[in-house]
Amino acid sequence: MLKIKRYHKKSRYNFNAIILCALVFFVIGATAFCMVANSQEAARNKEAAKQLVGKEPAEAIAAATAVKNVIEKQRAKASSVQPGVPVGVTEPQDDEKIVYLTFDDGPSENTKQILDILAQYNAKATFFITGANEECRPYIKEAYEAGHTIGLHTYTHDYAGVYESDEAYFDDLEKIGEVAKEQIGFVPCFIRFPGGSSNMVSAKYNSGIMSRLVDAVQQKGYQYYDWNLDSGDAAGCGKEEIEQNSDTDKFNHVMILFHDTQTKDATVEALPAILEYYSGLGYEFRAIDRSSYVCHHSVQN
Ligand SMILES: [Zn+2]
Repeated sequence: MLKIKRYHKKSRYNFNAIILCALVFFVIGATAFCMVANSQEAARNKEAAKQLVGKEPAEAIAAATAVKNVIEKQRAKASSVQPGVPVGVTEPQDDEKIVYLTFDDGPSENTKQILDILAQYNAKATFFITGANEECRPYIKEAYEAGHTIGLHTYTHDYAGVYESDEAYFDDLEKIGEVAKEQIGFVPCFIRFPGGSSNMVSAKYNSGIMSRLVDAVQQKGYQYYDWNLDSGDAAGCGKEEIEQNSDTDKFNHVMILFHDTQTKDATVEALPAILEYYSGLGYEFRAIDRSSYVCHHSVQN
């Protein structure tokens, strides 16, 4: 009996040992399996992270940069001189209310302030530049990169020289075109004659020159822009007067003449109130582009 009991006891011990060993092997095996599985998962995660953090975002950035470059190229092409391709419309769609703020004679020491004010109101404008103030030329690039349009006004703005002959006019225009090209990479097709196309000063130097130039510039691929509202800043008006002159609700496409020179602080001071006025009436402030409304005066010479 005793032997049998001992045997039973011994076999129970063995059985327990087998179960314990099995459990130990199971735990070791499961842990090893989990470790392998985890390392595979970790490897997969690492690969995915590489795709997301390293490779894919780089590809996304490259794609976004490519799109941006295409848009920039299209913008530059649409703003460039293209002989034979007409620019703008003289009969605009009347269901839109647009203000074209235009600044002549810059860049100047005031350009930066003008750009800052425009940025505050998310307003776009057009700058008809001259060759004056060489040290301010970087503002041309800054304005263009901020979404404003660069147009040509002439290099010297000297009536006697510019309107001496058709050839003299185009020599001067090409010179300012080169300045623009240095800053923004191309010669813009948007121009404004000194004194506008209706100026009579030119008659003093060359009879009939404006009548010839208005056609000649368009044949060469440019378009000229006059204005339908004069802020009066060239005549030396103060802030309040400039505001009054610049505000109208009489038409939907307003092209306002301003000047961007060192002495025109009143223009800078009047600008916020003018932007507020038109914003309140639901107008949009747009830079001139190839499809914009073209404002032409009637030629007097
Ligand atoms: Zn001017």
